[in-house]
Amino acid sequence: MSSDHQSNILSVLVVEILTQAALRPEFAFLGKSPSEARERFIGIVPGENTAVAQIASDGMNLDQKSALEVLLQKELAQHGLSATVYYKRRHSFADRMTLPDNGPTQPPPNRPGAFGVKMQLKPIPGVKKVIAVSSGKGGVGKSTVSVNLAAGLAAQGQAVGLLDADLYGPSAPLMMGIHGPISISADQKMIPHEKHGVKVMSFGFMSDPYHPVIWRGPMIAKALEQLFYQTVWGELDYLIIDLPPGTGDVQLTLIENVPLHGGIVVSTPQAVALLDAHKGLSMFEKLKVPVLGLVENMSHFRCSSCGHLDDIFGQAQIEAFAEERKIPIIGRIPLHRRIREASDGGIPVINLDPEFALYYMPIIEAVLRG
Ligand code: ADP
Repeated sequence: MSSDHQSNILSVLVVEILTQAALRPEFAFLGKSPSEARERFIGIVPGENTAVAQIASDGMNLDQKSALEVLLQKELAQHGLSATVYYKRRHSFADRMTLPDNGPTQPPPNRPGAFGVKMQLKPIPGVKKVIAVSSGKGGVGKSTVSVNLAAGLAAQGQAVGLLDADLYGPSAPLMMGIHGPISISADQKMIPHEKHGVKVMSFGFMSDPYHPVIWRGPMIAKALEQLFYQTVWGELDYLIIDLPPGTGDVQLTLIENVPLHGGIVVSTPQAVALLDAHKGLSMFEKLKVPVLGLVENMSHFRCSSCGHLDDIFGQAQIEAFAEERKIPIIGRIPLHRRIREASDGGIPVINLDPEFALYYMPIIEAVLRG
């Protein structure tokens, strides 16, 4: 069966299932009438192994999403078909917030810095937009978001570089599947590795993972400077910087020197991570870097066997955080084994599985819009 034909059949069936379900009291959350329920159907995206049915999830909680997913799968199985469900908000939180006005492509040189300090911004030759990805603490998925953002932008036809500036735990070599040292050009510049359509430079290429370099202040500044300005980036539409976690010296050195087009903050939904996210956000704000948005990683648990969704941490805190700080949530990514496996296997999950690519698309769109 052609994928077009299969998508058509699935579309008809999913619409029918939604229409019928709306008549059952336990699925009243789908809408006031069968036609409202029908309108929740967004489309079918053909996948490698299974198609993905996109359903608008506005106003639905996780139990309701799970119940609908079970129903859809059961009904489709009766026709010998299957589809994974991807829930998407029609009126996302991002839509309700005004996106920051990011101004010109390269911020004017020497913009006033925090506390009126005059910063000496030094653009990176050939690089149009630099986007920094930060997190208040480690292990929240900042690098995973960075590599998928970079690979996703490249898949959209953008010329992209990824600079893994996390000197304490460089992850790009593992997550992009790159091994071996970098080459040096005739004029003594570093030639980045190229993988998944992205030019990659990492502190990891400069150190032995079993004997980490003990970086001291001046060395850090020098090494950062080299990574930025002594790398043969060529012409890039976007350079994504995977910052070290936290708001220390490295981050400040970097933000004070490189003209950033925008910053993205990654957080998990727990309160403690959010407290750190406050700091990450304040760092961008104080240094007058436009914040493109907040990515909620590991937002809920998605079981890799049955697809059941479990809202372990709850959504209220992160929504309140975004509302309070007036920033849009530009991505909600579940905690799922497939994401970890893809990262460990050196392939951004966005290139591996269209179903997961959908989770990262809003982040990519926000960057392209920004
Ligand atoms: P950070 O850069 O914030 O330290 P990483 O991106 O390195 O965090 O992620 C830490 C670990 O968690 C990695 O093993 C990564 O593969 C895994 N991970 C990140 N996001 C997810 C997710 N959404 N689902 C499953 N595993 C994840």
